[in-house]
Amino acid sequence: DVRVRFCPSPTGLPHVGMVRTALYNWGYARHTGGKLIFRVEDTDAARDSEESYRQLVDALTWLKIDWDEGVEVGGPHAPYRQSERTAIYEDVLTKLVATGLVYESYSTPEEIDARNEAAGRAKQLGYDNHDRDLTDAQREAFRAEGREPAFRLRVPDTDLTYVDLIRGEVTFPAGSFPDFVIVRAGGKFLYPFTNPVDDALMGITHVIRGEDIMPSTARQLALYDALIQAGVTNFVPRFGHMPLVLGETGTKKLSKRDPQADLFLQRERGFIHEGLLNYLALLGWSIAADRDVFSLEEFTAAFDIADVNPNPARFDQKKAESINGDHIRLLAPDDFAARIVPYLQHAGVISDAPTPAETALIAAAAPLVQERVQVLGDVPGLLGFLFTGTVTYEDDALAGLPANAGEVLVASVGALEEVAEQGFDAASVQDALQTALVDGLGLKPRVAYGPLRVALSGRRVSPPLFESMELLGKQATIARLDALVQ
Ligand code: GLU
Repeated sequence: DVRVRFCPSPTGLPHVGMVRTALYNWGYARHTGGKLIFRVEDTDAARDSEESYRQLVDALTWLKIDWDEGVEVGGPHAPYRQSERTAIYEDVLTKLVATGLVYESYSTPEEIDARNEAAGRAKQLGYDNHDRDLTDAQREAFRAEGREPAFRLRVPDTDLTYVDLIRGEVTFPAGSFPDFVIVRAGGKFLYPFTNPVDDALMGITHVIRGEDIMPSTARQLALYDALIQAGVTNFVPRFGHMPLVLGETGTKKLSKRDPQADLFLQRERGFIHEGLLNYLALLGWSIAADRDVFSLEEFTAAFDIADVNPNPARFDQKKAESINGDHIRLLAPDDFAARIVPYLQHAGVISDAPTPAETALIAAAAPLVQERVQVLGDVPGLLGFLFTGTVTYEDDALAGLPANAGEVLVASVGALEEVAEQGFDAASVQDALQTALVDGLGLKPRVAYGPLRVALSGRRVSPPLFESMELLGKQATIARLDALVQ
């Protein structure tokens, strides 16, 4: 059975690249009926933080990427935070040392440099495998000097080859790297050890991760040989390395510091999880040549690691927003109305505890914008004027008013006075205004309605005009038109 994992380190804010990794692992687990394990690699006390950890959990929860075992939910291989697994690592280390493939190493960096220099060996080659075959007496002597050993893995003197799920056969030639440290002097377990050890202990079958980590796969393959000899596991997982995600320019990697990479910023902007995940799924995969928009169910039904494209993918904010807009339009109206509430609150358009009147107005107004926005963060700007008694005019809206604006407004007020308060609906309003402005004054609709839009909303762009007037009601509508005449 397929067992995949998402195993971020809790440093900094969750970013979209990380979410793509989680999504592909989740998609593959759901596609195959396998399990997703969420493990947290928090062995770097200086960089990891509890806040980042909470944000990771918050991010996956918001995105509705669920996991079968791991932090928060537990499971047969608990604990799932590496900071709580030291005793487990000590036990595995003891078993590895017993195989002879992991050994104590006492060389200091200075000693290594000095030996390389004496041997005419390039400094960049690093460690010279000097401590491989220290005798018991030599080790004893180092300890007597007060030295503590690091532990290194004896790397085989042969090529290391594996078949990448996305890239095909990959070979790391013999001698690419020396015996490497898996535990530092003083006992700190390092990523090249803890990551494959946990994958082995947790029965991970497919390691799906970013291309940037591919170089470490060679070391991990070497470690797997030792883990098998030590009886810790009996198989090597398959590895698949997803393509890089490039920034907008397509020339360099999307950096954690790029604003587009900031997951919570994108949420604030108003991505809905369906739209964002759909877009992120496209960074290295497609459902069909002629189709960009799909549901998460369609994604999990179709997603296979073997179909992932190894070529770098470019993050395109515009395309992401356009796909998000498509998903916004697929929402049921009441679902959409519910999802805009936090954005209206955040913008101060409504209070944290909306009144029944506000809730009713949200439900009535939501359909006016559901067809128009690409991100929910645009909703408060469009609907805000319906929730306030005072209109704030934007500068460009005032500057764009035509010379005959006053005439248009006065004629409109006259026409709207004639519409009965009870029958003040979009159709009657449109009728009255069309008669007065288009037929009466001979104006083109685009010219005629511009000043009304500004009077009502203070903006050049607003939701549909007649529907907005209906929602405001006769008195407020006329008051706003009058206010702009003055
Ligand atoms: N903790 C590692 C990272 O976040 C995991 C890499 C891997 O998937 O092996 O980069």
